[in-house]
Amino acid sequence: MTNQPYALAIHGGAGTILKSTMTPEREAAYKAGLHAALKAGEDVLRAGGSAVDAVTASVCALEDEPLFNAGRGAVFTTAGRQEMDASIMDGRDRSTGAVAGVFGPKNPVLLARLVMETTPHVCMIGDHVLELGRKAGLEFPEADYFFTQARWDALQDTLAMQAKGEDDDDPARRHGTVGAVACDRQGNVAAATSTGGWTGKMPGRVGDTPMPGAGNFAENATCAVSGTGHGEVFIRYTAGAEIAARMRHRGESVIDAARHVVMQDLGQNDGSGGVIAVDAKGVLTLPFNSEGMYRGWVQEGTAPEVAIYDE
Ligand code: ASP
Repeated sequence: MTNQPYALAIHGGAGTILKSTMTPEREAAYKAGLHAALKAGEDVLRAGGSAVDAVTASVCALEDEPLFNAGRGAVFTTAGRQEMDASIMDGRDRSTGAVAGVFGPKNPVLLARLVMETTPHVCMIGDHVLELGRKAGLEFPEADYFFTQARWDALQDTLAMQAKGEDDDDPARRHGTVGAVACDRQGNVAAATSTGGWTGKMPGRVGDTPMPGAGNFAENATCAVSGTGHGEVFIRYTAGAEIAARMRHRGESVIDAARHVVMQDLGQNDGSGGVIAVDAKGVLTLPFNSEGMYRGWVQEGTAPEVAIYDE
């Protein structure tokens, strides 16, 4: 049995507040949220836990933090509702579970994990999967738990722009997603991702997050990837699977493969955003082509680090 140093990376979305409008107080709050999520995942790995459990713990912490667009604090559709997507993938055997367009569970990633572990399916929508979550004892808070005034105000701004025929190009208002990738001491990798999607998305729109190989992917032979950004482009360029394919077929490192996909495939095709990725040796990379990406990382024996901009 291998016993190598663990590694963990997280993101809180590439749709960051523009540096010019960020205040020191907000920056500190985002960084505290990232540190808390890193700690949740690292505690699992330090105790000898699996990569799957670590990414679950980190993503739950990010879903619970209303600053990030997932779980509590998810953005609103044009119809004023919150529709959440989430997924998880285990690099040991490529088992994966996902949910799309759900509203109800406090932690959509736990519902995705339930799909992975208790059903023969990969992706589920609708009432039945919610019922599955209730029966399994997942927490379903009151609906107003998920509401945040800031996201509601952002929707009103976006709707006003849409009415005038203008594009809403403020990434902080539009975007966000949370995710984690980990490599545990056994050299197993996993990825989990969760999102409210886009402010002002059409009801029923599904993004890249619950699509394995687009916004989330894990395979021990190559890497684990969690993406954030313009989901439609991540889907069309199968971002996560493409990073793995470059490693598998071209022999590229996780660093080179992720960089190529983020900067070329996505970056040159209107696909703003970034990814976090880790290979089975624990090599981490966190490239993005946007102004910033809320992110954090830790490797066994080093101090956890968080960052927002290109610093
Ligand atoms: N990728 C997410 C989506 O398109 C949004 C984001 O990461 O900003 O649903």
